[in-house]
Amino acid sequence: MEYNIGDIVRTKKQHPCGSKLWEITRIGVDFKLKCQGCGHIIMIPREKAKKAITKIEKKAEWLFNIISQQNLKYI
Ligand SMILES: [Zn+2]
Repeated sequence: MEYNIGDIVRTKKQHPCGSKLWEITRIGVDFKLKCQGCGHIIMIPREKAKKAITKIEKKAEWLFNIISQQNLKYI
């Protein structure tokens, strides 16, 4: 799976606040994830993050914009 900043991802385990959705705010050796329930920010190693994430719930909107611009060329 490809991850981008701004993606909303779902994790196997839920945060103590009850939310399983996180926004990716930084990608590097560590992933920085912002809980969508309470706003709490965590840093976890990339490999651990990849295992914890079950799916991308919503792709970042800026990416959608790029994709739709590219699609326009083919219309
Ligand atoms: Zn939370």
